[in-house]
Amino acid sequence: MSDADDPPIGGSDSEPMNDAFTYNGGRVDPGESANIRYGISETYLGDPVRIPVTVINGEHPGPTVFLSAAAHGDELNGIEVVREVAHDWDHSELHGTLVCMPVMNVPGFLAQERYLPIYDRDLNRSFPGREGSTSARRMAHRIFTNFIEPCDLGLDFHTSTRGRTNMLHVRANMDDPLVERLAYAFSSNVVIAGEGPSGTLRREATAADVPTITIEMGEAHRFQRSLIDRALTGVASVLAEFGLHPDSSVHWPGWRTVIYDDDEKTWLRADAGGIVDMKRGRGALVEEGEVICTITNPFKEEDDIVTVEAPFTGLIVGVLENPVVYPGNPLCHLVGLSPDTHTALERERTVEQSSERLRS
Ligand SMILES: [Zn+2]
Repeated sequence: MSDADDPPIGGSDSEPMNDAFTYNGGRVDPGESANIRYGISETYLGDPVRIPVTVINGEHPGPTVFLSAAAHGDELNGIEVVREVAHDWDHSELHGTLVCMPVMNVPGFLAQERYLPIYDRDLNRSFPGREGSTSARRMAHRIFTNFIEPCDLGLDFHTSTRGRTNMLHVRANMDDPLVERLAYAFSSNVVIAGEGPSGTLRREATAADVPTITIEMGEAHRFQRSLIDRALTGVASVLAEFGLHPDSSVHWPGWRTVIYDDDEKTWLRADAGGIVDMKRGRGALVEEGEVICTITNPFKEEDDIVTVEAPFTGLIVGVLENPVVYPGNPLCHLVGLSPDTHTALERERTVEQSSERLRS
């Protein structure tokens, strides 16, 4: 929610015109947009590896916000979020600047792999990057210096790792007041607090005074329309909160829970190898003792069925999609809920169920 006491981010209203957006090799003037293919590396053939970047520079002053996706090359949902914001939305009254990077890890995207194919480097552990270092760090450096550092805020879109799925949630360093404001503005039901691993874009950008959150949504290798639409609502809400689209309004998700380090949460892991029959999906509310899944052998022998129960009442934030496990493989990410959140969530589910009954 906008608060009159909140300091302005980026430009101020006294400026008659927005600044030009500049990067190494070019500029985008106020009131202009540019589709840029920006070289960040070279292939074995000596050809440029270029990432697509769309810069939309509003006429009116305001914050500069980056939207990035596919730092992991097979995580596709965010690509569509960034493309729709960049190319389907009307930004004629934009106050500020949008820097849209739908595909950061181009080599991984071409191979449909999470990591950079060369030595399996993780681009999202290579920020802020460094000149004269590894190929991954050089790529990260070119992205970071040209398109991240000039920004005031950032949204980095991810999905679960291949074979698993996440409900839409935000990961954010809630100790930083601007990151906290950004996380709330995105209006997801679930926020997982923490600064994130070293080398991740959100942690390093935040450390470089560009408060940034990660949005996790769904699974790799898919466009999941309902999640994409939900994320677009979050982006619109952020642009309203920070004044880029001053006529739009901030969205309230209905209920919200922030999960801190010492809160009840766990990755339930398989204690037997086998084939998983998952009873509950992402976003499900499960009661303590409720059966989440069973693990069986190829013969479905009764004696060998392993039943996995919820150790506490909570919400399934992430869950296995590929139904095969070795002992120790993750089955689901379960987070505990406060009594208030539990009540709000139950109420929402009851409303959903009765409207479904009315439709059928
Ligand atoms: Zn990712």
